[in-house]
Amino acid sequence: MPVLTRLIPSPVVVDIRPGALDDLASVLADERISHSGRLAVAVSGGSGSKLRERVSPSLPGATWYEVGGGTLDDAIRLAGDIKAGHYDAVVGLGGGKIIDCAKFAAARVGLPLVAVPTNLAHDGLCSPVATLDNDAGRGSYGVPNPIAVVIDLDVIREAPARFVRSGIGDAVSNISAIADWELSHRVNGEKIDGLAAAMARQAGEAVLRHPGGIGDNDFLQVLAEALVLSGIAMSVSGDSRPSSGACHEINHAFDLLFPRRAASHGEQCGLGAAFAMYLRGAHEESAFMADVLRRHGLPVLPEEIGFTVDEFVRVVEFAPETRPGRYTILEHLELKTHQIKDLYVDYVKAIGS
Ligand SMILES: [Zn+2]
Repeated sequence: MPVLTRLIPSPVVVDIRPGALDDLASVLADERISHSGRLAVAVSGGSGSKLRERVSPSLPGATWYEVGGGTLDDAIRLAGDIKAGHYDAVVGLGGGKIIDCAKFAAARVGLPLVAVPTNLAHDGLCSPVATLDNDAGRGSYGVPNPIAVVIDLDVIREAPARFVRSGIGDAVSNISAIADWELSHRVNGEKIDGLAAAMARQAGEAVLRHPGGIGDNDFLQVLAEALVLSGIAMSVSGDSRPSSGACHEINHAFDLLFPRRAASHGEQCGLGAAFAMYLRGAHEESAFMADVLRRHGLPVLPEEIGFTVDEFVRVVEFAPETRPGRYTILEHLELKTHQIKDLYVDYVKAIGS
């Protein structure tokens, strides 16, 4: 009888609640994370100093490193700085750029990473990927999952609302990404990892159907948990498939075609997801998704983030090229320019104003 089930790479501690930062020291003191108390903590130079003031008294054995930005060079420099320190673990305390730099640096020197995100802008906070700017633009680097994730909802509430909005768009877009995965399964026989799909879909549905708003702790709790589960779903499947389909191809196309004008990751992914749901004929789901995104102050039309309809049509046309090999509703339909234009007009009518 087969008795082995698979082991899922996942953090040993997930602590999401208001005030969680006050107990960070006890989380880190876990034998599996830091037995000596020697920690390398990566923070940003600007907003990081307030957090450092608050947290450093409880971490006497920590050395603090200011990280410049979110580039591969920043991450390599950080790895070089912490290499000789004989640390037990690396702590990334800050926004997405800090977490990604810390993830990469920790992986490079073979130390576990504790992620302490200070905003909820996307699902990278607990994913096995570090996104860093490099000479060719932007790269995704495979790294181990964080060993612990601590999210203080009081800190999250202090971050600008646009970060929370971005996280909502990213979480909700899972629903469209899973639909793309299922489409590819039907058409190409691509294998679906049922557990990864379940985790990512439930994360998206929970955020989509939650009646609360960005000012409520219970909503932020669900959103933070959804983003953590999305990250773990990517570890389970071994790629970004559970959380990235046509929605993310559209997002990448915005970034690549209009690097200076691009909106936030989640704004573009949410809009991309609502449109992709319409393209796949899920008109009611598309309209419901658009309603929810609007309720949270997210865009559902390109003009709401400063793009013309023609520019959006270009984005949708270019989107499949951003992710060669990934089969989504866009690759499936192979739309011509005039078809995208017509479908966009129908989409606008369908979601109402
Ligand atoms: Zn995303």
